[in-house]
Amino acid sequence: MEDYIEKLKNGSIKIHELEKEMPAEKAVSVRREYIEEETGYKFDKVGKFSIDAERAARKNCENMIGTVQVPLGVAGKIKVNGEYANGEFYIPLATTEGALVASINRGCKAITKAGGADVRIQRDGMTRAPVFAAKSVVHAIDIIRWIESNKDELKKIAEETTSHGKLTDIKCFLTGTNVHVRIEFFTGDAMGMNMVTIASEKIAQKIGQETGAVFISLSGNMCTDKKPAAINLILGRGKTVAAGVFLTDDMIKNIFKTDARTMAEVNTRKNLVGSARSGALGFNAQAANVIAAMFIACGQDPAHVVEGSNAITTVDQTDGGVYVSVTLPSLQVGTVGGGSGLDTQKECLEMLGCHGGGEEPGNNSRKFAEIVASAVLAGELSLIGALGAGHLARAHKQLGR
Ligand code: NAP
Repeated sequence: MEDYIEKLKNGSIKIHELEKEMPAEKAVSVRREYIEEETGYKFDKVGKFSIDAERAARKNCENMIGTVQVPLGVAGKIKVNGEYANGEFYIPLATTEGALVASINRGCKAITKAGGADVRIQRDGMTRAPVFAAKSVVHAIDIIRWIESNKDELKKIAEETTSHGKLTDIKCFLTGTNVHVRIEFFTGDAMGMNMVTIASEKIAQKIGQETGAVFISLSGNMCTDKKPAAINLILGRGKTVAAGVFLTDDMIKNIFKTDARTMAEVNTRKNLVGSARSGALGFNAQAANVIAAMFIACGQDPAHVVEGSNAITTVDQTDGGVYVSVTLPSLQVGTVGGGSGLDTQKECLEMLGCHGGGEEPGNNSRKFAEIVASAVLAGELSLIGALGAGHLARAHKQLGR
C-alpha cells in the first residue's frame, strides 16, 4: 500500500490507473488513503460499504474512494393497475428529505383505497440528435431529403450495433446551415443512452459520407439529454406514461380532509396557472421529489430527473369526486445497464420484481416506469390534498365562500 501511495505522490502512477495494478477493492482503499494524505482529512465512514467495488469502480464510477449512504424508506403498499405492473408494491425511496416518504405514503394509501392507479405507456423511445453543418440552406435541404429517402438503410446500419435496439423514428430539423437529426430507438429494458449513442454514431458517419454534411457533434442538444427542454415535453423522450385515479367525495374528506372543488382549484391555480405564468416546463406539485428518490434507490441516472419532472397534473371535478392524473412525457428508466446492477440498487429493483431483462425485452423497464408514474401520482395527490386542507380551506373560510 505504501509503495503505491509513494508512486501516486511522485507521479509514476496516476490515480485512475490503480485498478490496472490491483483488484478494485484494494485500489479504492489505496486511493482513499492517498486522498487522506493529500487533504489531511481522515474518512471514517466513506470506506465502509457493502456494494461490489469491482463492478462499481470498473463500470460506474472512476477514481472511486468509497460510497456515501442515503437513507432508504418505503411508501405503500400502492395498488397499480398497469399493463406491465399489476399488483401491490412497496415503493423504495432513497432520500434525505424528511416528510417526503410520509407524504407519498399518504397518497399511496388513497390510491390503494380507491382501487389502484390506472397506468398506461403511450410511447417508448430514447433519442440522440447529432448535428451537421451544411454549406448553404440548399445543401441543408438536400441533406434532409437524402436522410428522409434512406431511412431503411440507416435503420439497418444502426441495428447492426445492438441486438436489443430498434430504430423507430428519424426527425430532421433545419436551422440555416444547421441540420439536427433526432433519432429515436426502442431500447428494450435499458434506459438506452449508451446504446443509442453508439448506434447514432454509425448513422451520422453514413450521412456525412453520402451528403457532404460535416458531422459536428454526436449530441446536438436536440436529443435533449439532461437539460430542461420543451421538445421532450412535446415529442417525449424515454417513456411517455400517464397514471390516473378516481377519488370519491368520501375518500377526499376522510383521507385528505378537503373536498373535490378545493382540490381542482389548487391544481388549476398552482400547477397549471402558476407553472404557465412562471414559464415552467413541469406543471406539477412535486414530481421531481418522487422521481429523484426512486431513481437514487433503483440505480437510475439521477440527472434524468430533469426530463422526468416535465410532468403535468390534472384534476377533473366529476360527479361524486375527482379524477386526478399525472402525465410524464419523458421518463427515462432502465432495469439493465447503468447503475441498475449495483448491489443495493439491484435489491430495490428486485423487490419490485423488475430487475434485469424482461421476459419480452422492454417489459421490465415498462413495469418499472408504470410503478414510478403511480408513485408520482401518489405524491401529487398528497401535496394537493395537504394544500387543499390547509391554506386554501382557511382562505375559503376567510373569504366567506
Ligand atoms: P448499457 O449498459 O450501456 O447498455 C445496455 C446493454 O445491455 C447493451 O449492451 C445491451 O445489449 C444489453 N442488454 C442485455 N439485455 C437487455 C435488455 N433486455 N434490454 C436492453 N438491453 C439489454 O446501458 P444504456 O441504458 O444504453 O446506457 C446507460 C448508461 O448510459 C448509464 O450509465 C448512463 O449514465 C449513461 N449515459 C450515457 C450517455 C452517453 O451519451 N453515452 C449519456 C447519458 C447517460 P445490446 O446492445 O447488444 O442489445
